[in-house]
Amino acid sequence: MLADKDRIFTNLYGQGDWTLAGARKRGAWAGTREFIDQGRDWITNEVKASGLRGRGGAGFPTALKWTFMPKVSDGRPHYLLVNADESEPGTCKDREILRHDPHHLVEGCLLAARAMDAHLAFIYVRGEFIRERQRLEHAVQEAYDAKLIGKDNIHGWDLDIIVHHGAGAYICGEETALMESLEGKKGQPRLKPPFPAGMGVYGNPTTVNNVESIAVVPEILRRSGAWFASIGRANNTGTKLMCVSGHVNTPATFEEAMGVTFEEIIEKHCGGIRGGWDNLLAVIPGGASVPCVPGEKIRNAVMDFDGLREVGSSLGTAAVIVMDKSTDIIRAIWRLSAFYKHESCGQCTPCREGTGWMMRVMERMVEGRAQKREIDMLFEVTKQVEGHTICALGDAAAWPIQGLIRNFRHVIEERIDAYTYNSTSEGAVPSI
Ligand code: NAD
Ligand code: SF4
Repeated sequence: MLADKDRIFTNLYGQGDWTLAGARKRGAWAGTREFIDQGRDWITNEVKASGLRGRGGAGFPTALKWTFMPKVSDGRPHYLLVNADESEPGTCKDREILRHDPHHLVEGCLLAARAMDAHLAFIYVRGEFIRERQRLEHAVQEAYDAKLIGKDNIHGWDLDIIVHHGAGAYICGEETALMESLEGKKGQPRLKPPFPAGMGVYGNPTTVNNVESIAVVPEILRRSGAWFASIGRANNTGTKLMCVSGHVNTPATFEEAMGVTFEEIIEKHCGGIRGGWDNLLAVIPGGASVPCVPGEKIRNAVMDFDGLREVGSSLGTAAVIVMDKSTDIIRAIWRLSAFYKHESCGQCTPCREGTGWMMRVMERMVEGRAQKREIDMLFEVTKQVEGHTICALGDAAAWPIQGLIRNFRHVIEERIDAYTYNSTSEGAVPSI
């Protein structure tokens, strides 16, 4: 479990002053000039030593991503693009940073920008985050006024920060759609490669990082990469913001050590499962796009990248959705199918057609108005969507259904049996 002294986000619940004065009291902007003076490679190497992996969901090693930026300038400007378009259902962690600790992010932008030879950072904020955007803009302005950022600032590395407010489309959280949207175009994902470091915003080298990934950088440099790496276990290091919603006694967002078990976080931060552990049905442990795990398998699971893979799921954004036995699990997953169908940008056929098809079949399965052979057919269609689309939204639409079929096939079958029995006993022929 995470010791209090190892917490990075000490104002997560907004009990302290979120402005520059309060942030400084909590240690922000201390030693920043020395870190900048140590140079690009030193910053990158410390972050590499920390083992930090991207906190937006994919877990790509942060320092490695930074090294993809050109070492020798070809005349094009370099950009840092912070993804604050937090929209994954169940996920509400970056929101707390923007609300209560925005200076972690502003200072992190300066340090990350130095590590990439960037003098301009964009922060793309989710459309619905209106108060969060206002706080962030206030923090950015405070940093300008105190000459912490901007031209000829006291840190010796010029940096401008532009806060850009999105218009509320889930797909704009996908990094290439984010860039399209930032450039003023329709938010549709681009094919990768080229990756953003080669061809990003306006065709210039760009690194896209999640809010939390950037916001932890100042403390990693202050306390050392080795300190961060000592928390958790190899390949799964550091502290992590987690957000638990659903059928627990006290839903919460909190910072924990990677590698704690599911039971530990529920007991320590969430007051236990509603109705007790025997009442736990299933958990989606990493935001809506990862497969659900049955209650009996998740209890002792380790909450990190490797631990959740071992139980057939993924850490994703560490947004934990808990469902007790009052949940209609087929309906819950159908609801996610409807979400992905609605949010598909429609650009590629397997996603545009597949999400609608999967949603409609799921809709019938909620009622039991299906045939059992369709369960395999549905699974097969998810396999045709997965990995065959431009961006990860296709995978995200497929994986929850795969998790449902793998773990709760018997529930779907029972629902079909009940519908067939009720229909035929009333003399009706079940339609499909
Ligand atoms: P990805 O694995 O394709 O990429 C992750 C990052 O690594 C990207 O920045 C990408 O550019 C970089 N990368 C990967 N391979 C690379 C290579 N060979 N060379 C250079 N760079 C490379 O994943 P993604 O599509 O960016 O993200 C998917 C994840 O996003 C899902 O796992 C989901 O959990 C998460 N997600 C999060 C939210 C949210 O609100 N935070 C919303 C939707 C989805
Ligand atoms: Fe658009 Fe879906 Fe294709 Fe992504 S997978 S580009 S959201 S149609």
